[in-house]
Amino acid sequence: MTESLPIIQLGDRTLRHKAAWVENVHDARIQQLIDDLITTATKANGVGIAAPQVAESVRLFIVASHPNARYPNAPEMIPTAMINPKIVAHSNEVVKDWEGCLSVPGIRGLVPRYQAIAVEYTDRNGNLQKQELTDFVARIFQHEYDHLDGVVFVDRLESNLDMVTEEEYQKM
Ligand code: ZN
Repeated sequence: MTESLPIIQLGDRTLRHKAAWVENVHDARIQQLIDDLITTATKANGVGIAAPQVAESVRLFIVASHPNARYPNAPEMIPTAMINPKIVAHSNEVVKDWEGCLSVPGIRGLVPRYQAIAVEYTDRNGNLQKQELTDFVARIFQHEYDHLDGVVFVDRLESNLDMVTEEEYQKM
């Protein structure tokens, strides 16, 4: 059984903690957490979710890009658990684009991110994966990676003028 977990919001201090390394990917609690995070992200129309967002302070997140009501132009991919992820290289090019966060409801911000990154992570079967990610999926990775270090997208805005409400965003 998988369940949709409650998502903690900006102001909850757990969101600001540096998350702990996952020692054993095969641990039944980690496997259950992965399933529950995928269910939680899907139900909330999220394209990614990090374990600290459900108050589990471990270095694991889901990238689940797919077109939905919140991100109509997102590329389609199978929800992927990324455990103990690292950014090993990145482009010089930085691009600004709109982001939201399930832990910061009702707000969107223009966030600068690397256009391309080379990443490594352990998958849910315990295998080391190496990938190059670009554009929207690279953005999701960087957003979720920040959650593992207690960083939220609003911390990365260059100006408060780059922050708008969801209602105003939908008018654009
Ligand atoms: Zn987020």
